[in-house]
Amino acid sequence: MMYIQEACRSTPVLAACDVAVVGGGIAGIAAALSAARAGAKTILLEQQYALGGLATIGLVTIYLPLCDGTGRQVSFGIAEELLRLAAAAEGKDPVADWKDRRTATAARLECTYNPNLMALEAERLLQEAGVEILYGAQVCETQVQDGAIRALILETRSGRSAVSVKSVVDASGDGIVIRLSGEASAVFRQKNILAAWYYTAEDGKYRLHPVGACDDPDTYQEAEAAQSGQTRYTGLDFMELSRFTQDAHRVLMEDYRKRGEPSDRYQLAMIASIPQIRMTRRLDGCLVPDEPDACVRYPDSIGMIGNWKRRGPVYELPFSCLHGRRIRNLLAAGRCISVTDRMWDNTRVIPACAVTGEAAGLAAAMGGDVTALHIAELQDALARRGVLLHEQQLPPR
Ligand SMILES: Cc1cc2nc3c(=O)[nH]c(=O)nc-3n(C[C@H](O)[C@H](O)[C@H](O)COP(=O)(O)OP(=O)(O)OC[C@H]3O[C@@H](n4cnc5c(N)ncnc54)[C@H](O)[C@@H]3O)c2cc1C
Repeated sequence: MMYIQEACRSTPVLAACDVAVVGGGIAGIAAALSAARAGAKTILLEQQYALGGLATIGLVTIYLPLCDGTGRQVSFGIAEELLRLAAAAEGKDPVADWKDRRTATAARLECTYNPNLMALEAERLLQEAGVEILYGAQVCETQVQDGAIRALILETRSGRSAVSVKSVVDASGDGIVIRLSGEASAVFRQKNILAAWYYTAEDGKYRLHPVGACDDPDTYQEAEAAQSGQTRYTGLDFMELSRFTQDAHRVLMEDYRKRGEPSDRYQLAMIASIPQIRMTRRLDGCLVPDEPDACVRYPDSIGMIGNWKRRGPVYELPFSCLHGRRIRNLLAAGRCISVTDRMWDNTRVIPACAVTGEAAGLAAAMGGDVTALHIAELQDALARRGVLLHEQQLPPR
């Protein structure tokens, strides 16, 4: 590889804030909302020009369950608020519906939604909360001093600029700030399969086609995968992501054509504008929870999630999987929190992203220095917002 030397430069400081949230997916929306509601001057930096990430412009539009599958709601707070927001845009109330049906039908507390409305409604919600949203702002560097991030460097349409920060939430999905700042990280070893979810319009109705259902990390066998000849993707390299995108477009077109002839009654309606990659890089944090058979009681729990594939399990999420040991004012939220590969399949989905986003945003607003944070104060503040922290607070089955 050849290299060129770039000239050293001075970078203008565009803004200063208490909390910078990097990434405006579900985790970033929850984190920014949470921090701003706690009174912090909050800036959300998003490289695209819409909020929601995979959950909107990635066309992943199934808000997975906030319940444990046995009739008990386990995720609350902003996770519930965003579920209601997603459904309300289409005139639905999934919580009331579920409460009516849960015992009779074993229904789960989840919903599908319109990605465009979700992106617009989330933007309105953040604006109302006082979050400054900066679109087209790609974080490409961090300035770290004495174990804390002092500034984020952005590439924007107007060139490079900086935002000085007191604390940062990495909600980039890919652990971008974790990597740039030198915090410990780990990558998803088994890599991702191709996914090409898209919408058609059929007889006046939109229909989601989830091409590329996820594989199961519990049963994944490396040797078998290698033998199958199936291409797998790390999602970490831009050349590979370009290939992934073109592979996804090809598979999507094949699937679309196979389903019928385009006509007034059958049209391709929407394709994703970001790559649909599930797991890439995550924090290797103070704790790395594994998927237990039964719920582990974490004294520093910041909320709970269910298991979207199985009825029964409830997982408490500890605060110590949201931060590492090297950078004291950096918190992770969403699909880049610290968990093992098999637990990752459960924490990468929308409810967990909202739960961890709310806690990370609040912790960041409370000063953001994880070495000085009183967990009990964070937990009290979450509890005041209606978040349940421990399984024992749930009604018996
Ligand atoms: C194919 C597929 C199917 C799925 N199915 C479901 C499902 O049915 N239900 C479900 O609940 N979950 C599903 N998931 C998982 C879930 O949708 C996502 O993992 C979740 O929405 C991730 O949220 P996030 O906020 O952590 O990350 P993302 O949604 O990835 O958001 C990260 C945001 O950060 C921005 N960003 C990244 N880098 C930078 C940077 N350097 N500077 C500024 N901004 C940056 C990105 O543009 C993006 O908007 C699926 C995922 C995939 C890929």
